[in-house]
Amino acid sequence: MAVSGLIFNIQKFSLHDGPGIRTTVFLKGCPLDCWWCHNVESQGSGKEPLLRLDRCSGCGSCVVSCPQGAITLVDGKAATDLGTCVRCGECQVHCPENGRNICGQELSVAEVVAEVLKDQVFYERSGGGVTFSGGEALAQLDFLVEALAECKGAGLHTVVDTSGAVSWTSFERVLPLTDLFLYDLKLMDDAAHRSYTGVSNRGLLENLRKLSAATDAIWIRFPVIPSVNDGAENIRQSIEFLQTIRFRQLNLLPYHELGKGKAAQLGRAYRMEGVTPPSAEGLEELRAQFAAAGMTAVTGG
Ligand code: SF4
Ligand code: SF4
Repeated sequence: MAVSGLIFNIQKFSLHDGPGIRTTVFLKGCPLDCWWCHNVESQGSGKEPLLRLDRCSGCGSCVVSCPQGAITLVDGKAATDLGTCVRCGECQVHCPENGRNICGQELSVAEVVAEVLKDQVFYERSGGGVTFSGGEALAQLDFLVEALAECKGAGLHTVVDTSGAVSWTSFERVLPLTDLFLYDLKLMDDAAHRSYTGVSNRGLLENLRKLSAATDAIWIRFPVIPSVNDGAENIRQSIEFLQTIRFRQLNLLPYHELGKGKAAQLGRAYRMEGVTPPSAEGLEELRAQFAAAGMTAVTGG
């Protein structure tokens, strides 16, 4: 039987998810619940409605199209009962303002790989390839393994972007098929990691140790979240940990506020109110701290 995955985006000409020009396939579902997540729509493992009330003109097309009667007009705007909505996508098709997006689409491996291969010429010219991200790419393991195998078979450079919050056996399955891992390192204090992401960091760090024993083809991705993980003690502990493992590149990823609008579209609270992106000086200071420990940190990427 053909394996399918729940995909929430296939991004062409991506320049920040590995080397060269890439296509990034975003898989839905993540075991973490990071406060600063900028792809909030990626977290749930099922389809989710992203609703842009700011675009709603109150035309009522979605009300008529919904087979569940889940939508009513309230004060001239479409109001959706998410408990009744079955994520069928009918209203998305009928909204003339592009104000309704049912996030997540079941696609077969063949469909995804066919889309990825359309840009093969750009990968060859730029040293790029395909990146599987999320959500947590490894959370849809059977899909990922088959998609990686197909892409490798077509001669593509393959990248897996992961938080590491999966079992080690998952890594063992993708290791032979993956040219590069992008691996998040967020917080070294376990209690803080639990409170900001919902899970312990023990398994994630252990998987990173094991992965680095198996390969040095790892780029560490350090999200810089002011007042959460940019303090001196977390940086000291992060450096101490990184000095014990192998990796090829360290990327500092400055926090930004893109998740705020998406949280509103999903009807969720945004937990980073009041936190602003790190300043250029703050990032430079962090780079200097890593440099003093012999590590070259690249901002962005
Ligand atoms: S996704 Fe389907 S069930 Fe949900 S509001 Fe839209 S039309 Fe109704
Ligand atoms: S179809 Fe779109 S614009 Fe019209 S009422 Fe529904 S959400 Fe608003």
